Amino acid sequence: MDNRQIADRLEAFAALLELSDANPYTTRAYRRAAETIRSAPLPVAELVRAGRVRQLRGIGAGIEGRLRELIDTGEIAELAELERELAPDLVGLGRYLGLSARRSLQIARSLGVRNAEELREAAAAGQLRSVPGVGPKIEARLLEALAREDEPQARPGLLLNRARELLGGMAQALDGEAAGDVRRWRDSCERLAVVCATQDPRPVVKRFAALPQIVAMLEQADRRAVGVTVDGVPVELTVAEPERFGTALLRGTGSLDYVAALEPLPDGSDELEVYAALGVPWCPPELREEPYRGEPPSLIELGDIRGDLHCHTLWSDGRASVEEMGRAAQELGYEYLAICDHTPAVGAVRGLTPDDVRRQAEEVAAANESLAPFRVLRGIECDILPDGRLDLPDEVLAELDWVQASVHGGQRMPHREMTKRVEEALRNPYVRCLSHPKGRYINRRPENALDLDRVFAVALEEEVALEVNGLPDRLDLSGEHVREALRAGVRVVCSTDAHSIRGLTNMVLSVATARRGWAAAADVLNARPLEEILAPR
Ligand SMILES: [Zn+2]
Ligand SMILES: [Zn+2]
Repeated sequence: MDNRQIADRLEAFAALLELSDANPYTTRAYRRAAETIRSAPLPVAELVRAGRVRQLRGIGAGIEGRLRELIDTGEIAELAELERELAPDLVGLGRYLGLSARRSLQIARSLGVRNAEELREAAAAGQLRSVPGVGPKIEARLLEALAREDEPQARPGLLLNRARELLGGMAQALDGEAAGDVRRWRDSCERLAVVCATQDPRPVVKRFAALPQIVAMLEQADRRAVGVTVDGVPVELTVAEPERFGTALLRGTGSLDYVAALEPLPDGSDELEVYAALGVPWCPPELREEPYRGEPPSLIELGDIRGDLHCHTLWSDGRASVEEMGRAAQELGYEYLAICDHTPAVGAVRGLTPDDVRRQAEEVAAANESLAPFRVLRGIECDILPDGRLDLPDEVLAELDWVQASVHGGQRMPHREMTKRVEEALRNPYVRCLSHPKGRYINRRPENALDLDRVFAVALEEEVALEVNGLPDRLDLSGEHVREALRAGVRVVCSTDAHSIRGLTNMVLSVATARRGWAAAADVLNARPLEEILAPR
């Protein structure tokens, strides 16, 4: 069993524990262990056999026991049992109907049904009202939802990283291309689509229905099918004739408004052919949010990025050391990496005091010695206190190469105070970048009331850059806000805010978000050489 297979099983276990409403800390521990194992440089199966697996970070006695069982028997018995009991297709249908996993299972148990199909039949036969807690109103709502099952519905989307992983795996298995919101790199993906090309569509539709990611089929036709995942998210499959693949991919990619403005679409075997026949220059999918027929700008690319300016280490809430993070960044082909751990006001996790900052300097110096010519920069993610002061004294900030200023607590502040608070921080001469300016968590916490126009004006005056934070649940600034910032003449920084080695690979999400804001390489500070990063304001 290789590391990826082991990690997959632990992740499946975490997912099912979550469905069965287990303690969220347990679920998270399994997810973290899976991530550690996925990126472990050694074969984990051997570590388990040698009794040394607890040397890996985040693997305690409980998880070690599961791993031993998995390596010895090829399976985790409790996982297999959960898979039988939880009937993922039932849970998927339940999610689709707006029911929690626990509630779907209660209803199923009380109806004596075991899968989604039986649940539909029982509902159609009027048995739902026999379920404790289901009155006529709830029954009517569920029946109505079931009747609309094959229509697209408004529902919170999937985070981009999860959607990319899910759809990418399916597209690969079907030898097709991921389309829909994923191909346009939307921060929250509602429309998931895969487009394939073949003369004979039947085997592809069959393979689609049999994919492990698909738990129930909502619709099935000759060259089109809609399935639903365990998260209750519909996935569309289009199987085009090869000579029309480009047309189907363009339509499948969207957005609806963008495509509608190009209709009628000519047939083409790839997108270039379709665009050529339309007489319109090819458009990167990230820019297809609104009708556009012009010559697109040359957008920033991942390869233009020369360094990452925001990451954490063991000094605060990161999971790797300064040197490990530096080495990983070097292996990604970067020239520099800024270590930006938290300051004490962040609260929930450990923050660096002035003393810690100076002790960390020694570790950074040692890392620089072993990684030269790669440069590890002394940075900080300094909290902006409620009154706009920074959480470290100026003489400490003055020692650093790179200072990020961040609002963490108090995101609900009213418009005027919030804007004043951030403006005050940007006036500090050592601050180089404002982190995650709008403070949102996608689908969980709305944006703060910060007046961005005012922030753009101050950032321009003070030559402070604005971050495009690459954490999948942040992506902040958003594409739309990047576009406004660039129009105001402000520079952005594409950062990962990585808390682990693997987190550094989220740069692709930050860059895609900047692209959605029409950013070129010249607009992005960390596409510049180190000297420009180190030049004082
Ligand atoms: Zn932060
Ligand atoms: Zn951070």
